[in-house]
Amino acid sequence: MGPIPYGTQHITQEDIEAVTETLTADYLTQGPKVSEFENAFAEYIGSEHAIAVSNGTAALHLAVLVLGVEPGQKVITTPITFSASANCIKYAGGEADFVDIDPETFLMDLDLVEKKLENADPGEYAGIIPVDFTGLAVDTERLRSIADKYDLWILEDACHAPGGSFEDSKGEQVFCGDCSYADAAIFSFHPVKHIAAGEGGMITTNSQELKEEIEMMRTHGITKDPKKLQDNHGGWYYEMQQLGFNYRLTDIQSSLGLSQLQRADEGLQRRRTIAGRYDKAFATFDTIIQQAVTPTKRDKHHGYHLYVIQVEQRKELYDYLRENKIYSQIHYIPIHLLPYYQQFGWNKGDFPNAENYYEKCISLPMYPTLTVDQQKFVIQKVIEII
Ligand SMILES: *Cc1c(COP(=O)(O)O)cnc(C)c1O
Repeated sequence: MGPIPYGTQHITQEDIEAVTETLTADYLTQGPKVSEFENAFAEYIGSEHAIAVSNGTAALHLAVLVLGVEPGQKVITTPITFSASANCIKYAGGEADFVDIDPETFLMDLDLVEKKLENADPGEYAGIIPVDFTGLAVDTERLRSIADKYDLWILEDACHAPGGSFEDSKGEQVFCGDCSYADAAIFSFHPVKHIAAGEGGMITTNSQELKEEIEMMRTHGITKDPKKLQDNHGGWYYEMQQLGFNYRLTDIQSSLGLSQLQRADEGLQRRRTIAGRYDKAFATFDTIIQQAVTPTKRDKHHGYHLYVIQVEQRKELYDYLRENKIYSQIHYIPIHLLPYYQQFGWNKGDFPNAENYYEKCISLPMYPTLTVDQQKFVIQKVIEII
């Protein structure tokens, strides 16, 4: 059996043809494929708008800039996420603050968010960045009611969760990143994510104003929109009104993303089937701790970017899987323990649930093209060690 990664892209002949077509068309960038991808993505997620950018980290950066953080103001996120979810706060001049995770769902504990804000000074916090970690949706409805009390924005990091959802108190299915409750959300098209574009990212929002600001910031803070210009010298005229960036996605990447998007639902169903098999195989082992996901959540709501289990002999398991060419991963080292963040005074012991989680967690292979035989092999190797 060949090597089995924890996640990988799936490229079809249609994907190749879509990219080839763009390569021989008029635009490699700033052409029609970008807005085609944006419109199709917004439709898939259920948001009003989608703005394509060069990667998920650029999406976080721009979103925090337009949502706004004053120098030194704090933004809350979870310690169990990719470091980009916190780095974007620093890029924008704010301070990253954390709350511990719920030990059963591994998501940011909303009770602790509430408690932190109750004890905060007015204006101490600007916003909250919840993460739909592994693909499990954060309860943004509840988070919205907490955020509104303190006039905070919500930026949902939905990189793990395209197609993921939860049912709100009205019985509506709220999709991750549809911005029913969040002000904006972001996605990544890195090859390990659901939709691969090489590199790529997307910001979703239901606000026309945020959309226009993000579009301007994505391309140097420049506008040619006659309604926005302060002056007008002629057809060539543009104004740079803010200090923006070049965070554009190319047409080449957009055409790959667009082609991949056609199979997103199929891939998601495969992920849920694979999760079902893991759940069943491990259910009888009390030495394997599973994420608290009800069968309904598993089959209908979870996005399953990752399939995480917790075991006492995590290092032994990781090494043994590697010996068998199964390349599992650890998601994530708690952010507050990373050397860069330690300089701001965070210490071991600050977030015990996150730290305990990290000691035992391991992400098993989870991607749509994982075959039944490959998965059986993974399960067999896990059980051998346990
Ligand atoms: C992948 C990822 C990002 C960053 O996306 P890039 O496209 O790699 O910049 C941010 N947050 C989370 C949770 C991610 O998984």
